[in-house]
Amino acid sequence: MTRPVAPQHMVTRFAPSPTGRLHVGHGWSALMAMDLARAAGGTMRLRIEDIDGTRSRPEHVAAIIEDLRWLGVAWDGEIIFQSQRTGTYAAALDRLRAMGLLYPCFCTRADIQASLTAPHGPEGPVYPGTCRRLDAAERARRIADGDAHAWRIDMAQAVAMAKARAGGGTGPLRWRAFDDDGDAMMTADPLAHGDVVLARKDAPASYHLSCTLDDAAMGVTHVLRGTDLRSVTDIHRLLQALLDLPSPAYRHHPLLVDAQGRRLAKRSGAIAIAALRAQGMDPHALAMDLRAGRFPVGIRPASA
Ligand code: GLU
Repeated sequence: MTRPVAPQHMVTRFAPSPTGRLHVGHGWSALMAMDLARAAGGTMRLRIEDIDGTRSRPEHVAAIIEDLRWLGVAWDGEIIFQSQRTGTYAAALDRLRAMGLLYPCFCTRADIQASLTAPHGPEGPVYPGTCRRLDAAERARRIADGDAHAWRIDMAQAVAMAKARAGGGTGPLRWRAFDDDGDAMMTADPLAHGDVVLARKDAPASYHLSCTLDDAAMGVTHVLRGTDLRSVTDIHRLLQALLDLPSPAYRHHPLLVDAQGRRLAKRSGAIAIAALRAQGMDPHALAMDLRAGRFPVGIRPASA
């Protein structure tokens, strides 16, 4: 007996890092994620990416929530805080370690700079693999000595294993892109990123690991985020294949730039949502403008 296939319940999310006040680009992104879910009768979630101990600040968490509420962004269910999910990240790291895919990396930033001969990947220099070549005894000794270390993924091995798990083929891994016209399958190239860090020296997980695990745990079906994160989707797709996680569809929107063509950053206070509020701007008018692609004077989406 065949059962009718239920249409997928759409789940979107907005996932800010509390490292400063939100700017209009964040507001635009959050509104788009909410509208997408609402139009499909789906669910919109909010996740605070607060495991970066050196840059995350509790006061920014409160401010983000206040700014979103003011702009009319509403989410469903509890807010997810990454700082409360470190056990899940540790379990995934254990699993990847047991698969033989992680190695400790003792390099400092200066070590890496000094040893760079490697080609640049989509996100900058690729780690030259120095610590991948340490033997087991040396690793154990340095860990026992308390040497600070991150955990990196052995990308070549990981890609080989992921391909085997994702259907046994030798073809590339793919992720699904969505837009108004429909879906398209994109080729993922995690190898180009090299041995990325999955657990940092100063944080229990890297963005790649926590984001991938959380999107799966929150049942996110459609990820809408800035185009700056497009290339790392390759890494997220790889982790999904390794950890048997569902792979959502992705859409990457342009970043906003100022009159000089510079990317808006949280530090540019002039276009912070809070600053617009302080100037007496009407939040409904602002939300309507952002939805229509009308931005404050001098601000525009970067051409792709
Ligand atoms: N936390 C990230 C940021 O604020 C966004 C992560 C994501 O959407 O995947 O840039």
